[in-house]
Amino acid sequence: MSAPATEQAPLRLNDLKRHTAALRERILAATTRVIDSGWFILGPELEAFEREFAAFCGAGHGVGVANGTEAIELALRAFSIGAGDEVVIAANAGMYSTTALLAVGATPVYADVREQDLTLDPAATEAAITPRTRAVIATHLYGRLADVRAFRALADRHGIVFIEDCAQSHGAAEDGIRAGAWGDAASFSFYPTKNLGACGDAGLVTCRDADVAARLRRLRQYGWASKYVVIDGPARNSRLDELQAAILREKLPLLDSWNARRREIAATYAAVAVPDLRHPDVSGEGYVAHLYVMRSTRRDALRDHLLAAGILAEVHYPVLDNEQPKVDRRDLSASLPNSVRAISEILTLPCFPEMDGTDIARVCAALQTWSA
Ligand SMILES: *Cc1c(COP(=O)(O)O)cnc(C)c1O
Repeated sequence: MSAPATEQAPLRLNDLKRHTAALRERILAATTRVIDSGWFILGPELEAFEREFAAFCGAGHGVGVANGTEAIELALRAFSIGAGDEVVIAANAGMYSTTALLAVGATPVYADVREQDLTLDPAATEAAITPRTRAVIATHLYGRLADVRAFRALADRHGIVFIEDCAQSHGAAEDGIRAGAWGDAASFSFYPTKNLGACGDAGLVTCRDADVAARLRRLRQYGWASKYVVIDGPARNSRLDELQAAILREKLPLLDSWNARRREIAATYAAVAVPDLRHPDVSGEGYVAHLYVMRSTRRDALRDHLLAAGILAEVHYPVLDNEQPKVDRRDLSASLPNSVRAISEILTLPCFPEMDGTDIARVCAALQTWSA
């Protein structure tokens, strides 16, 4: 008798060990450079990365911060948005914008998302605007650019601030204009699993206006104009350190190729036609396949079916922000029919650049054997 076949390792949504292994030498060289320099906070690596990343986005300015949630918070603070102000957001985007709004004391106003891509609906946003509305935050959910043209026009028409949450959409573009260049400000996260990820926490705000950038630089460091001289606030300490900046500089030139590979994998999935499975729109440069989110009316059974094939699918996100305990506005869900319906249908499949042909075939085979 031969030994039993070794079981295939489960396929997860990400494999950062594979991702980092391919970059090992570059990352070690970059971190060695920083450690040998003896300069760890707000130095040449961050300055260079801010410049390089802003240029990549086609944005006026880039200001590195500690993470993507504080990027949203500091963008709000840079426009003096706080208590008494309303900000329109989607309820299905993982609580990040809500967390930032609660931190500054502003009121989240939830508008519904579009059925076709689950990004914030510009028409629903417009209907939610009141005299107290100061801003709209559109999240480019799952790597799909929201309707940036509509939000830009709407913000200009109403004299409100347009903030993009680009934590899932590094490199996505419409008409050649990238995420981060459409809004008055835009937040990025470089959490390790994002399309561009650090080896730890990191974030950045892009913006159009030099005064806003200068304000962001103060607000990320206690409100300092210069050392120990506080002229702005309420501020916080939220900095992107030199080690992470150096690592991100090594990775940035590879981002477009990684996004191309993500799109390729997404297109392969989308070609598997199975009744009951609804694929996302994978077309165009407006999608960078951060998360491959399908829909099924029998989502939980589909998840079990994939699990039996060793594929660990997940749900992004299982709870609407307005139904989270710290917000607790369940009554609002009645006005968010598309957001509510999607919650029970969405399922995220593994889709990351280091997946090989075997991994992709495994997912496709599991989808093919699914019958509703
Ligand atoms: C990851 C993420 C964030 C937050 O980023 P952190 O760096 O983890 O704080 C914000 N918004 C969206 C849509 C995200 O996916």
